[in-house]
Amino acid sequence: MLRTHTCGELTLSNLGETVTLCGWVQKSRDLGATTFIDVRDRYGLTQLVLNTDNDATLREKAKGLGREFVLKVTGKVIERTSKNAKMVTGDIEIAVTDIEILNSSKTPPFIIEDETDGGEELRAKYRYLDLRRNPIRNNLMLRHKMAQEVRKYLDGLDFIEVETPVLIKSTPEGARDFVVPSRMNPGEFYALPQSPQTFKQLLMVSGFDRYFQIVKCFRDEDLRADRQPEFTQIDCELSFITQEDILNIFEGLTRHLFKTVKGIDLIKFPRMQYADAMRLYGSDKPDLRFGMEFVELNGIMKGKNFSVFDNAELVIGINAKGCAEYTRKQLDELTEWLKRPQIGATGLIYCRYGADGTLKSSVDKFYGEDDLTNLAAALSAEPGDLILILAGQSQKVRKQMNELRLEMGTRLGLRNKNDFAPLWVLDFPLLEWDEETERYHAMHHPFTSPKPEDIAMLDTEPGEVRANAYDLVINGTEIGGGSIRIHDRTLQALMFKHLGFTPEEAQKQFGFLMDAFEYGAPPHGGIAFGFDRLCSIFAGLDSIRDVIAFPKNNSGRDVMIDTPATISDAQLNELKIKTTLPL
Ligand code: ASP
Repeated sequence: MLRTHTCGELTLSNLGETVTLCGWVQKSRDLGATTFIDVRDRYGLTQLVLNTDNDATLREKAKGLGREFVLKVTGKVIERTSKNAKMVTGDIEIAVTDIEILNSSKTPPFIIEDETDGGEELRAKYRYLDLRRNPIRNNLMLRHKMAQEVRKYLDGLDFIEVETPVLIKSTPEGARDFVVPSRMNPGEFYALPQSPQTFKQLLMVSGFDRYFQIVKCFRDEDLRADRQPEFTQIDCELSFITQEDILNIFEGLTRHLFKTVKGIDLIKFPRMQYADAMRLYGSDKPDLRFGMEFVELNGIMKGKNFSVFDNAELVIGINAKGCAEYTRKQLDELTEWLKRPQIGATGLIYCRYGADGTLKSSVDKFYGEDDLTNLAAALSAEPGDLILILAGQSQKVRKQMNELRLEMGTRLGLRNKNDFAPLWVLDFPLLEWDEETERYHAMHHPFTSPKPEDIAMLDTEPGEVRANAYDLVINGTEIGGGSIRIHDRTLQALMFKHLGFTPEEAQKQFGFLMDAFEYGAPPHGGIAFGFDRLCSIFAGLDSIRDVIAFPKNNSGRDVMIDTPATISDAQLNELKIKTTLPL
C-alpha cells in the first residue's frame, strides 16, 4: 500500500511515529515561516506542517500545491500547539519530511466542503467531486450499512438472494415501461422490470420458499423529488405464509435496521385499515407523528342555510391546536394556498376558540353560539385552538384536508425528522377506478389476491372488493408494500378479465405465469421496500437523490455523462429503427 495510515486515525497515541498518508489537498495556508496543509481522504482530515526546519526545496514544493492535488506525504506525528477538539486527528499534526505529488488538479468548480458554493446543476455535472464532500459520502456509507444489515437479517431467516433478469417483458406496476430494442429480433423490444414481481412468484413455484434481492427497478414516470427513473427495492417473497407472518417478519427487518443503524428501539407498529386511514387522514399513508385527525361535521354544520355546506357531500374539520391567534392575513394566505390548482379547494372556513373562551367563526351569520359550542366539542377544541373546515365532494375534500393537515403539522413543528412513526396500512381495495381510461385498474398489481370473502362482489361491486394487500408507512411516506398473491390459474384469469384483458391478451402477456400456476404453485406472498426512500428517511433527507451515487435530474437526465443521447445511424440501422421526431 502507498500509505501507512488513513487521514482519519492518527492521535496522540501515535506521537513520534513516522507515517505516510495519501489524500487530497483540502486547503493550504501559507503563513510565511510556516505552511499548514489539510490533507483529506474518505476517513478524515490530517494537518501537515512545514516550517524553517524543512529544506527550501520541500517548502517551495508545498507552496505550489493547489486544492485537490493528490499527495503522498511522509512525516513524523507531533503534538499540535493549538488543538481542535472537533476532529479525531485534532491533537496532532505531521511534521513533513517528504511530499510526492501523485497527481495535480484543476481548481474544482465549487468548494469541496460540507457547505459548498456550488449550485445543484453544477454539482450534478461534477458529481464525482460532489461525492468527495462529507454529507454525501456519509449518506452512501449509511446506505452501505443498511444494505449489509438487510442481508444479515434476511440471511438469518433463510432468505436466499437470487438475481432476476433485467431484459424482460412488461411487469405492470402501474407505470410506463422503459423499453430496449432487440437487434437480434428486429421490431421486438424488451421491457426493463418495473419490479421483479413475476420472477419472484415463479421462484416460489420453483420451491425457493424465501427469496430476496436488493434490485434495480425501472419506471418511466414523471419525476419528483422522491422519484428516480431507476431506483432500488429490497424485494422479497415467501411461500407457505400468512399475511400476519409477512407483517411480523418485515416489521422485524425494519426494527432491526432502526436498532443497528440508528440505535433506535421502535415501538410495535400500529395497524390501520385503509378505509380508516382515508376517513381519518385523507391519505393511505398518514403521518402519525401527530394527531389532528379529521372530524366529520355533516351532522353539526349542514341544515343551517349555509349553502356551501348544505350542497357539499362532506364537511370535515381539524383542530389546529394553539392557533387561535392566527391573524386574518395568515388565514387569507392559508386559504390562497389551499386554492392553488395543486390542491384545488374552493375555500376555507374557520372558527377561532379565543383564549377568553369566545367562539368566533368566519360564518357567524349562519351559526349561533350553540352550534359553535357543538362544533368545538366535536373537535375536542379548547380555548386557544383554531378549527379549520373544508367541504365538498368526499374524496376531493379528504385529499385537500390531508394537505392542510400536513401543512399545519409542519407549521406547528410536529413533523420532526428525528421522530419515527411507523404504521401498517391494511386491506387496500383490490381495484381502483381510473377516470381517464374509464375502467378499473389493479390498485397494487394484477397478481394481488382479493380477500376470499369479497370475491363474490367482483361482478357486482368491484370497487368494494378488498385485497390482501398492505403498505408500510413511516412518517407519511410509503416505504414498502406487498400482498398475498393469487396462486390459482382460474382466479388469476378472472382477475385479468376484470382488468379488461381478453383471454388472448392475458395469455399473450402473462401466459407463462398462469401456466406455471398449473404445476403446483404454493400459496405465497411478499413485499418490496423502496430502499432509496428508506435510506433517505434514515439520513433525514427529503429527496432520495442524495442517497444515490449517480442520480438523474428532474427531466430524467444524467447531466454528468450527458444522457439520454442520440445514437449513431449505424446503431439505428442495426436495430432496424427509424426515428421520425417532430422538429
Ligand atoms: N412488486 C411490488 C411493487 O413493486 C411489491 C410486491 O407486491 O411485492 O410495489
